[in-house]
Amino acid sequence: MAIPQSFIQELLARADVVDIVGRYVQLKKGGANYMGLCPFHGEKSPSFSVSPTKQFFHCFGCGKNGNAIGFLMEHAGMNFVEAVKDLAQTYGMPVPEDDTSPQERERAAQARARQATLSDVLEKAASAYRKHLKASPAAIDYLKGRGLTGEVALQYGLGYAPEGWRTLASTFPDYQDALLVDSGLVIHHAEDGGEDKRYDRFRDRIMFPIRNIKGECIGFGGRVLGEGTPKYLNSPETPVFSKGRELYGLFEARASLREAGYVLVTEGYMDVVALAQWGFAHAVATLGTACTSEHVQKLFRFSDAVVFAFDGDAAGRRAARKALDVALPFATDVRSVKFLFLPAEHDPDSYIRQFGPEAFARSVSDAMPLSRFLIDAAREGCDLGSAEGRAHLASNAKPLWLSLPDGALKRQLLAEFADLIQLGLHELQSLWQPPSPAPAKWQRRTPADGQAPQDGSPSSGFSRRFSSDKPARGLGRQLPASRADHAVRLLLSDMRQWQDLNGEDHQMLCELPAPHGTLFTWLDSQYQEHGSLPWGALREGLRDHPCEALALKVMDTAFAAQTASPEEEPDPKAPSPQALARESAAELKALLNRLLIERLKAQETQAIASAQTDPSALERYRALQARRRSLENPPEV
Ligand SMILES: [Zn+2]
Repeated sequence: MAIPQSFIQELLARADVVDIVGRYVQLKKGGANYMGLCPFHGEKSPSFSVSPTKQFFHCFGCGKNGNAIGFLMEHAGMNFVEAVKDLAQTYGMPVPEDDTSPQERERAAQARARQATLSDVLEKAASAYRKHLKASPAAIDYLKGRGLTGEVALQYGLGYAPEGWRTLASTFPDYQDALLVDSGLVIHHAEDGGEDKRYDRFRDRIMFPIRNIKGECIGFGGRVLGEGTPKYLNSPETPVFSKGRELYGLFEARASLREAGYVLVTEGYMDVVALAQWGFAHAVATLGTACTSEHVQKLFRFSDAVVFAFDGDAAGRRAARKALDVALPFATDVRSVKFLFLPAEHDPDSYIRQFGPEAFARSVSDAMPLSRFLIDAAREGCDLGSAEGRAHLASNAKPLWLSLPDGALKRQLLAEFADLIQLGLHELQSLWQPPSPAPAKWQRRTPADGQAPQDGSPSSGFSRRFSSDKPARGLGRQLPASRADHAVRLLLSDMRQWQDLNGEDHQMLCELPAPHGTLFTWLDSQYQEHGSLPWGALREGLRDHPCEALALKVMDTAFAAQTASPEEEPDPKAPSPQALARESAAELKALLNRLLIERLKAQETQAIASAQTDPSALERYRALQARRRSLENPPEV
């Protein structure tokens, strides 16, 4: 199969296995999962469980399990590609170029190798630019003049592209190499006379390397040193760089984001670097383009709170309006989106230099909430004193309001708009959202061709009492052998917990001996790339991975341990998914505490061993021991 792995994972993250299975099997909610009669073996009482959080199904009778794709393959008899296409169509996601022939596969492998090569070339250029910066007093003076220290310049890898048309030739001996053009470093003009002109794209500019979330250099932004134009110049779109997807500074900001609790989005790389200099290391910038929905999606993978900063002028206002439009669909009740409008003549860089970091922090905390800006944007130019003006407001507000995800914010805004428009709440709602026939409570979608499951199929007869015909349990209930297994189980079951861990926990887990450490390192990279994924999607990404066996072993027991006893009638008082999530977070916390204690013990032993030769080791030992004891006996609260 040659459909890109990352697409399959995105697809599985978007799809709902409960819906997909529900097309064929009548399911009933029981606790956190759904239960039904297994379509893969004959049974009279349900032992087939579908987990919405794991995005995985599992039969306790016959042991069949899998994700939405697996279900379509096993039950609907599709092959892998058919199942992916079917699923993609259901969720309106176009399947990327279908390159199934060996030649095409070869081409895809070449493209991947090429991307790696382009990154290498860009990395090499970045290092050359850094060297040139050290040798250019004018460039250093410029950065100092903007208030930057060498430390911040180093952190962001700033460099300098000297004057001259072919400076890069000293770094890349083969200046004719096509990679230099493909990476956007060199511009190539083939002139009519047949003469072939090549020259450096970036000349006499301060260079800002743009890194992807893995820290690889994928392009550059360059600010002209003198008065030349354009003031800012970016790398062109290349196989590794796409302006609409990348955010400058996100890689560098990762650590600070969690601490600050929000991410600040600015319009320029100078803003990002200047803010970092003043202690706001959690700023990122779009790259000379309006904020896209891909940007917003990416931001919300790293923080639940986003503050957009714009200049106070008309252009800033327009850019803010675009950001509002793309942010609305992501503004769930647990997220926060705010808009910071600076005085007209200021950008974040100039503002913080003139007024200082406290004033800047104050203006961030006073930033306009999304709800306020949404209402302002909708009523702009509407005379609320006239019926026509209020109707105009209603028509402006409708698409904005409809973009919001369902939730408490959306309902409150409906009430506010109803007030402004002077319509009743229900009148306005029926104007904006005509009622559609609601599906019956347990009635799930029937297959696409409209055929309901036929009588006698495994999905009928659900209402019978599930008393006899106990399924043979294929799996024991024993807990995973080691603590590390246990941590794997909790985190693969609910990857959202990964983001709630602190840096020390991440490091400790990633440094566990193989295969556990390897698996956590892989999980972290998945998190950076996709955000949280359900187990169903992770399982797909693990195919042929060295840690596949470990993950499968652990998750098999996870299903056995976490599903309510299958032979019993679903318990209406079963804990809610939220309660289960809290419980598992507490379990994970206690477990990490134990792991940390073990790690500290090992470090203590090491410190003692080196105490004979290293005078500071004893002190280290005492600090480690004190820390461990405080973990073992937490202070009473
Ligand atoms: Zn079964």
